Amino acid sequence: MLTRDRAVSPPQKKATAAIILVAFLMLSCASLAQAETISAPYSAVAPCDFVESLEFNGTNANASVTEQVELGPRTTGSNGSAALRALIHTQLPLWDVANNTYTEDNITFTNVVAKLAPETMDESTPRVVIVAHYDSRDVAERDPDINRTMDPIPGANDAASGVAVLLELGRIIPFMDLAYEVELLFTDAEDQNFSSGSLYGSKAWANAQSDAQVNRTTAFIVVDMVGDEFLQLTHVYPGDVALWTTIAPLASAIGLMDTNEDCNGNLGRDIVNLSISTGVIDDHVPALNRGIHAIDLIDIRFGEGAEPFGGYWHTHEDTPDKVRAESLRDVGLLVELGLRSEAWIYDFQALEVPEDDSTPPEDDVQNLDEEKMEVERHIGLGITALIGVLGAMVLMIVLSLSVNLKREQ
Ligand SMILES: [Zn+2]
Repeated sequence: MLTRDRAVSPPQKKATAAIILVAFLMLSCASLAQAETISAPYSAVAPCDFVESLEFNGTNANASVTEQVELGPRTTGSNGSAALRALIHTQLPLWDVANNTYTEDNITFTNVVAKLAPETMDESTPRVVIVAHYDSRDVAERDPDINRTMDPIPGANDAASGVAVLLELGRIIPFMDLAYEVELLFTDAEDQNFSSGSLYGSKAWANAQSDAQVNRTTAFIVVDMVGDEFLQLTHVYPGDVALWTTIAPLASAIGLMDTNEDCNGNLGRDIVNLSISTGVIDDHVPALNRGIHAIDLIDIRFGEGAEPFGGYWHTHEDTPDKVRAESLRDVGLLVELGLRSEAWIYDFQALEVPEDDSTPPEDDVQNLDEEKMEVERHIGLGITALIGVLGAMVLMIVLSLSVNLKREQ
C-alpha cells in the first residue's frame, strides 16, 4: 500500500500527498507494464499454463512450522539444530542430501544441501537454488521483557516458515519432471548474535562454488519470514534486477497482486507489492557478491500493522500461532509456479559474461548493517511518483492543447 509507511513524518506526508494521489492514478499502468517486461537473460513464460497443476499444500507447511518449533531452539550447535537436520534428511527421501560442516571464527556450523538432478545432466544443465536459513536466533534483543532478551526465540516465522516452504516444495518437486537441477539449501548461522557477524552458512556456500557452478546457477531465491498472517512481500534490495522482473507475472497469475489480474481475470489480493522497496541483508547477499542472480522473498513487517524490522521480529512472540497456512501457501505456490514454468531458466552458455549489474559495490554492502537493519527507502514509490508527475504534466499539456483546439474551432 502506498500510504502504508508510518515512518514518513506528517510534513513530508502533506508535501507528498498530492504527488502520491497523481501517482496512484498511474500505478495500475506502471504495474501492468512491469508484469509484461522481463529483463534479460530471463524471458517471458506462460505461467497461466501451469496454474492448474500447482500442488503446494499450505497445511503441510504449517504443520512443519509447529514440528520445528517443538524441537526447541535451533541455534547453531544446539541439539535442536541437529534434530532438525535429521528431520530434513528423513523428509527428503528422493533427494541427494548432505551436511556440509565448516569452522570459521571458532564457530562450527552445518549447511544442509539437498540436490535433485534430471536423469540426463551435463555441464549445460542450469541449476536453481531455493534457500532458507534453518537456525533460529539465539537472542531476543527486541523483546519487551528485558529479562528475556538473552534467551533464544521460538523462530516460528523467522526460520521455521522458510524451512517449511522448502520441505513442502521438496515433497512435490521430484514429481514435476523438471529438466534442470534444483538445490534446496538450508543454511546455518544466518541469524546468530555472534560478535563476528552473521550469514556464515550462505557465505561458506558461496565461497565453495566453482566458476562453473556459479555460471549455471540461473537463480538463487531465498525465502525467509514468509508465514505472517498479515503477509506482505515487497521488492528487496540489494537484489538481482533481472530476476526480480520475473516475480510480478508469477505473483499476478496466482492472484497475489491487487493491481493485476490473475489467470481468471480477477484482481488479486495485496500480498506482493513491488512498488515498495525494502533494504535487507540476508542469505542472498553472499550469492550476489559471488556473481549469482539472487533475490530475497521476505516479509520484514511481522504482525498486523508492523513497521519494517518491528512487530514480533526477534521477540519471544515469534510463535506458530502468528503463522498461517495460507501465507505459506501463497509463497510456496509462487515458487512452485516459477519452477514449473521455467521462469528462472535461461541458456547460460549463450551468455559471454553473466549479467549482474545489481550487485552493489563491496563497500556499500559493508556499510549496511549486518543485522538486516532498519532502512526502508521507497525507491519504487519515488519512481512511481516520478511517473505520476510526468503523467500529470503530459495530461496538462494535452488538456491545454485540446482547450486551444476548441478555442480555434
Ligand atoms: Zn532473524
